[in-house]
Amino acid sequence: MRVTVFSAKPYDEEFLKAANEGRHELIFTEAGLHAQTARLAAGSKAICAFVNDDLGASTLSVLKEVGVEIVALRCAGFNRLDLSAAERLGITAARVPSYSPYAIAEHTLALVLTLNRKIHRAYNRVREGNFALTGLLGFDLHGKTVGVVGTGGIGRNVMRAFAGFGCEILAYDPFPSEEAESLGARYVGKDELLEKSEIITLHCPLTPETRHFIDEKAIAAMKHCRMLVNTSRGGVIDTHAVIEGLKSGRIGALALDVYEEEEDLFFRDLSSTVIRDDVFARLLTFPNVLITGHQGFFTQEALFNIAHTTIENITAYEEDGQALHPIGKR
Ligand code: NAD
Repeated sequence: MRVTVFSAKPYDEEFLKAANEGRHELIFTEAGLHAQTARLAAGSKAICAFVNDDLGASTLSVLKEVGVEIVALRCAGFNRLDLSAAERLGITAARVPSYSPYAIAEHTLALVLTLNRKIHRAYNRVREGNFALTGLLGFDLHGKTVGVVGTGGIGRNVMRAFAGFGCEILAYDPFPSEEAESLGARYVGKDELLEKSEIITLHCPLTPETRHFIDEKAIAAMKHCRMLVNTSRGGVIDTHAVIEGLKSGRIGALALDVYEEEEDLFFRDLSSTVIRDDVFARLLTFPNVLITGHQGFFTQEALFNIAHTTIENITAYEEDGQALHPIGKR
């Protein structure tokens, strides 16, 4: 099957080609997918899209027009896909439900440890011959209360790591997991988690229910929040409210791997251009904010699994008319 791969970076090409083993004809384009670029898929029955590609109704209509039958997302989250439009148009949508919960969980811990112990600042100081410690004071993770929102694959691995540090774990999820409880987590309501947690880490998908899960009201409920961490999806927090929370001190520090408006920023080199997003620019001014550009997934193992499952989705569709991991038909 001919597959147009959108938003393709050299690493996507490398891992997808290796997983494909010549089975499908892969056409790589650096172009991001949206209604104006969708025609690049002409001649392909399948397209492969990434996390910030626009799979709204207008894009899907153009894809349908040019003959695309299956949209294979090479990520887990599908919040940018209009599922009802895909179903209406008869386009199959598939994703990679799980590729390495360890990758994102480990990155979450990397952010927490870096931000707490100011490793990013210490690194620069030492390189400049500045060995002063003022401003680098952290806190012990041991004994702290960590609130984990979303106790799926990633959330549970995050819990395991925090439990290893000797933290007390509170959890919030409409579908509690026995495994999380066996790791020592105690399920509580949203308000109790916000009130008692010293570190709050978000691992739920972005859905209408979780959109702005952390908003002004949630921040008002926080009593001891030393650090808020978001490696799930940008829209789970209301960035404006969080900026106010940082200014008031109600949020002690903020670590982000995702950002509400990241599609105009992340996954490209903008170092020679002016950042036009004033909210993002404001975030960068805080000494207690650490941001990475959606790299939680970026490990060799995750890219390997993503590429293999993506190819399997397309192959299964070609052979049986059904993707291996269809979206909306679990
Ligand atoms: P998962 O499906 O295994 O777990 C998600 C959990 O969230 C489930 O237990 C679910 O019940 C829970 N949940 C759903 N609605 C909720 C709500 N309203 N409040 C609290 N919890 C709720 O998914 P996962 O693999 O653990 O991934 C979690 C999220 O991480 C993904 O949806 C994605 O947005 C994000 N992610 C980020 C990266 C990255 O590179 N930063 C990579 C992969 C995934």
